[in-house]
Amino acid sequence: MGGLRGVRRIYAAFFLGLFGFLLWAGEFERLKGFEVGLFLQLDPLTALGGFLTSHTLYKGLALALLILIPTLFLGRFFCSWICPLGIVNQVLSHIFHRRRAVESWEENRYRPVYRVKYYLLVVLLVFAGLGSLQTGLLDPIALIYRSFTLSLLPAVDRAGGGGWFALPAVFHGGVLIGGVLLAILLANRLITRFWCRALCPLGALLGWCAQWSLWRIRRDVDRCNQCKQCLRACQGAADPDGALRHTECHLCMNCIEACGTQALHYGLAGSRSSIGRPLDLNRRRVVEVALAAVVAVPMTRSTLSPRSTPTPEVIRPPGSLPEAQFLARCIKCGLCMRVCPTNVLQPALLEAGFEGLWTPLLMNAVGYCEHHCVLCGQVCPTAAIRPLSVAEKVGAPPFTKPVRLGTAFFDRGRCLPWAMDVPCIVCEETCPTSPKAIWYETVAITSRDGRKVTLKRPFVQPELCIGCGICENKCPVTDLAAIRVSSVGESRSGDNRMLLNQQSGWIEGTIDTGLG
Ligand code: SF4
Ligand code: SF4
Ligand code: SF4
Repeated sequence: MGGLRGVRRIYAAFFLGLFGFLLWAGEFERLKGFEVGLFLQLDPLTALGGFLTSHTLYKGLALALLILIPTLFLGRFFCSWICPLGIVNQVLSHIFHRRRAVESWEENRYRPVYRVKYYLLVVLLVFAGLGSLQTGLLDPIALIYRSFTLSLLPAVDRAGGGGWFALPAVFHGGVLIGGVLLAILLANRLITRFWCRALCPLGALLGWCAQWSLWRIRRDVDRCNQCKQCLRACQGAADPDGALRHTECHLCMNCIEACGTQALHYGLAGSRSSIGRPLDLNRRRVVEVALAAVVAVPMTRSTLSPRSTPTPEVIRPPGSLPEAQFLARCIKCGLCMRVCPTNVLQPALLEAGFEGLWTPLLMNAVGYCEHHCVLCGQVCPTAAIRPLSVAEKVGAPPFTKPVRLGTAFFDRGRCLPWAMDVPCIVCEETCPTSPKAIWYETVAITSRDGRKVTLKRPFVQPELCIGCGICENKCPVTDLAAIRVSSVGESRSGDNRMLLNQQSGWIEGTIDTGLG
């Protein structure tokens, strides 16, 4: 192992190790100030998508310029040197293809299907331009982080490989999320780095930038004997044996290593360098795809979602922006769900509409929002959940009101003291507010079999309830708790209010998000 390929392998091992470490450190007991969202902050597609939807560049995402600007000069180095999904694909492709008996140079040629990634990028950017942030569905960093966090690592813990989560974690629809990643990895068996070559929208963005790169793989036409060993080794379908497609070149440097005549080098053009090939894109098709995306955006919005109508089960983490702004920033990365100590944060399926797929929701049947915890807002790389202090969350001075996620309601038909004459005050005991949002009246009744029973029948005082969900989570009535939280009264919304309280003056105004 030597030369530029050796250097690339060292960098790739370092960044893959760093990614693994940050995944490990994203759990709440280990967080300790690590920048667990570093790879997302470096990701130009995350930054560009967020910029188009929110018209601001969140400060952490400015790091993406560290990738974007060098790409303009050096080419698509991110794909083989830094991207964890690209590196994993590269390793798997290497393993799968080494075992093949046939020569792989012909199958490594560029194919028109590899344009699909550019069309996907156009669709995602048109969606973002119209305010719908869907880049996270296909962005490789969000995708790999989400897949590991919500599917593969919980599965590893369950299989006894333990230690990734402090408590056994489960996630809604995790098998689908993990299945997408497994399909991407298995596709390497059929075609080398199929995801990177054909589907990755971040690769497309970087490839588009790389078309002007000054440094690139160059072939000295006098030295080349057309043995095609470079094409056989190429990871990017960049046709290094002919006119190089530098938009497709991942700078894996395999071709330089494979060339027996030293005809290839990485650098500026020499007098005998071969010419390169421009970006292979059909402009008419780009316009058609963009128009199709313009039509699709209102279709995704015409489904019932909290953007159009407040939805009781869409309870967002504390500090979440109002729904439309939240959807304009959340990239579905799963960092918040990874760090949540109670596992209450779960990926939505269609509860929040198509736009909200895999965004975080509180599911109180699984966990509850810990009263003094503000971790999700601290790790969110896009400030879809803005960082809160504990004082702001609980409404301690100088703040005057706590952050409310929703409001709890009793289902008296299921509540033990109300419906079954069985004493229970679990909800009142666990309610963390001071004064407690749950109070009770003591009643003495005679049961059907003639017993005298003293009961404490609970009530919710809605203006004190913060919607943390611990009462719902701890309620001894299993399957469907006798007290349940809905999103009404959430601080982040000025509209999602109970009429009753509009009259009593409990209503707050819309919140100041503190963001541009
Ligand atoms: S603040 Fe609540 S929802 Fe957020 S991580 Fe902590 S417990 Fe989970
Ligand atoms: S809200 Fe959660 S899933 Fe969405 S961007 Fe922030 S950390 Fe990622
Ligand atoms: S959700 Fe339940 S436990 Fe939490 S503040 Fe409201 S009543 Fe109390």
